[in-house]
Amino acid sequence: MKFLNKKPIDALTINERRQKIREELKKRTCRFCKSKEIYIDFKEVKRLERCLTEQGKIIPKRLTGTCAKHQRQLNLAIKRGRLLALFPFVSQVIR
Ligand SMILES: [Zn+2]
Repeated sequence: MKFLNKKPIDALTINERRQKIREELKKRTCRFCKSKEIYIDFKEVKRLERCLTEQGKIIPKRLTGTCAKHQRQLNLAIKRGRLLALFPFVSQVIR
């Protein structure tokens, strides 16, 4: 699926996007443990956006494989970011 990676995420159709997310979810290792240089901070919007669903929810650790310690840091960072309007509370209003 190399051609998918070249496109920006906005250019993908819904099905392609879902497939991409599914592929990402298959990897079940904590990516914050892998590279110890990464520090979870609410200012790093691009990195934390990957931990949110399209609706703006935080993806649970049972799907991403993030360890408990890093998931806690992640949740705190996203919730701080929401207060500063960096992340949405709800991105798609359903009904
Ligand atoms: Zn970890």
